[in-house]
Amino acid sequence: MKKPHNFKKILDIFEDTWGSEKDFPSGLTYEEPLDDLILTVLSQNTNDVNRDRAYKKLRQEYPTWDVVANAQVSDIADSIRVAGLGNTKASYIVQILGIIKKKFGQYSIKELKDWNSKEVRKFLVSLPGVGVKTAGIVMVFDLGMPAFPVDTHVARISRRLGWAEEKMSPTKIQEYLESTLPKERFAGSHLNFLKHGRNICNARKPKCGECQVKALCKFGKNLDV
Ligand code: SF4
Repeated sequence: MKKPHNFKKILDIFEDTWGSEKDFPSGLTYEEPLDDLILTVLSQNTNDVNRDRAYKKLRQEYPTWDVVANAQVSDIADSIRVAGLGNTKASYIVQILGIIKKKFGQYSIKELKDWNSKEVRKFLVSLPGVGVKTAGIVMVFDLGMPAFPVDTHVARISRRLGWAEEKMSPTKIQEYLESTLPKERFAGSHLNFLKHGRNICNARKPKCGECQVKALCKFGKNLDV
């Protein structure tokens, strides 16, 4: 697909509406990227509230990653059950920790900051339960590397804007956005897509009449014909 001609205008409008990177809350970046990696594994197929509850409980009951790695998977599963898929996620977490310890000699992935971004992505997606979206979140928010993670909001809005074809998978949309949008705007734009998706461009009932980018949106414009 070609570069969308209106991308700059849309990113600017989103920024005017939802804020720029400097306005975003702190806490999106983790001093230890492994913390965010585990948090993001917990976030799969659940909402932010239950993800955060599960993470908090896990950290309270198992204060270090070393303790988590040496615990029974079934006990970890009990601890994180509120986030759903407890057994699966617990198994992923224990496996990931084992691989990290073996590779880096400690429960830390800070060393990835010295790798090139292609190698980082390749390594992260090789971990159990880690896909391109999860890898992208850790890369862009914790490692300071270019990535535009595509979740359900980003995928939906990209399709409706006409940037992505209807049948494009989130992984393909991510590849497309990363190859067309300016790298320095990845983190801020990703967060603005989430805010726009939660507040205006809802999955079931988009509020096109209130939408700031309606005149530039393929779906929104078609409503008027
Ligand atoms: S015009 Fe409608 S479909 Fe397009 S981005 Fe806005 S809310 Fe979403």
